[in-house]
Amino acid sequence: MTTSLIVEERPLPVILQPARDELLSSWLRRHVAFYGVTEPIFTSWLRLGTKNLRSLDGQLGLDQVARIVEKFRCDPNAVLEMTHAPLPAEFAPLVRSSKPRQFCRSCWDRHLAADAQGVVMKSWREGWRVTCPVCGSPLCRKAISLAAATIRSATRALFQRTGTLRGKERTSSIGI
Ligand SMILES: [Zn+2]
Repeated sequence: MTTSLIVEERPLPVILQPARDELLSSWLRRHVAFYGVTEPIFTSWLRLGTKNLRSLDGQLGLDQVARIVEKFRCDPNAVLEMTHAPLPAEFAPLVRSSKPRQFCRSCWDRHLAADAQGVVMKSWREGWRVTCPVCGSPLCRKAISLAAATIRSATRALFQRTGTLRGKERTSSIGI
């Protein structure tokens, strides 16, 4: 895919299915990767009035919702549900603005198997969560767990694609 497929004033030709509980910025960034463009080019084309996709997770104006609905042919309520904007103000301090400290290992693996790498779920930034609202699994809280899961998932994907003994040896050699 190239930028030539992103034509001004038209919806995107391919819309990726959002994962359950996926953050809006995560969904938009997956489109950035899918179309092979840079984030500044993508945000400029969307004309959202910001180059910071992450900021949309916390505060979203009606004009921005309208632009996303137009370009992604989606329901405006679905767009709002992908953000923390509807949360009461007292929850704001419990939503991390930087990288999430927790994640769901089961959903992580499921996203990878569904070829939806890079999904970041809303619940991973919500400090009051102890279990995943999608699958009910306990959320892992350590960044090191995320790194280990990344390696484990990548190794598994490599093994599934190649199906070679070499992949199996590599898996065991790094102890996961
Ligand atoms: Zn889960």
